[in-house]
Amino acid sequence: MSAKVVVVGSANMDMVAFAPKLPAPGETVLGTRFEMACGGKGANQAVACARLGAETWFIGRVGTDAFGDILLQSFQEAGVRTDFVQRDPETPSGVALIFVDETGQNEIVVAPGANGRVSREDIDAASKVWDNAKALLVQFEIPLSTVGYAIGEASRHSAIVVVNPAPAPREPLPEEWFGLVDVWTPNEREIEGLTGIAVTDLESAESAAKALLDKGAKAVVLTLGANGSLLATHDFTRHFPAFQVQAVDATAAGDAFAAALTVKLAEGAPLEEAVIFANAAGALACTKVGAQPSMPTRDEVENFLRSQTLP
Ligand code: ADP
Repeated sequence: MSAKVVVVGSANMDMVAFAPKLPAPGETVLGTRFEMACGGKGANQAVACARLGAETWFIGRVGTDAFGDILLQSFQEAGVRTDFVQRDPETPSGVALIFVDETGQNEIVVAPGANGRVSREDIDAASKVWDNAKALLVQFEIPLSTVGYAIGEASRHSAIVVVNPAPAPREPLPEEWFGLVDVWTPNEREIEGLTGIAVTDLESAESAAKALLDKGAKAVVLTLGANGSLLATHDFTRHFPAFQVQAVDATAAGDAFAAALTVKLAEGAPLEEAVIFANAAGALACTKVGAQPSMPTRDEVENFLRSQTLP
């Protein structure tokens, strides 16, 4: 039986224009190509959870515009339940406007739109979602007060709480979160934002993870890109090297990782087993271009793990 996972977060339409160079202020440049794709960390992680076999419910907000239709359709195609996604009549769907030049450099403006209005009331309107829910996964692309409220609700219903603190918050997080969150999954930049410790090697990674534990975190899984991940709890610390793959695009590797970790924990797996599964999902996400299209399926992760010597 698949485990039930709730994802509360953002959904964006990503619009990417490619051009020989990025425009200077006031300049118009002629582009070469345009692509549109569904994105937003919340949506990417929800789609990943569904592909990995969880019964996945997304709570968030999109506009009543055409992008809202496309975002909802893409969730449904991935098998994500959208019963509790609100359509906001006053605010457009979130968009990310991305320019990419010939060298791969980019410039991004995110207009959060409806994501900025995901509210406590939206969580209350979804109160039925907690029936039998095994885990909650949240990120920081919606108002932090709503994230905190969702964490409280999940914890009250005995669901495991996983926080992917991305992007790094500008304000300190409320103290009471630390007692309620089961696992934190920052990357190197995000843990620096949370602790002030820059991660440059395994030793500084351990110090940063320890600093987050000292703030009250119960468990930290710090993702280290091509260096894998570091699991730190109050009892032990363990480094899991990355699986070797032909990496072509690391976009959303962190989203695949957080989703995979949450799905395995929701199924009752111990932390170390969940981290190995997440390392495999993150590695596989790097072997394909794009965010949602590169999220691996359950079969892909399991076949991959069978082909590897496990740590
Ligand atoms: P983010 O996308 O948030 O920056 P990371 O770059 O740390 O996150 O990647 C998340 C996870 O994806 C890593 O912990 C690792 O498991 C996997 N991963 C990332 N890059 C690679 C790579 N080049 N080779 C293998 N695995 C990778």
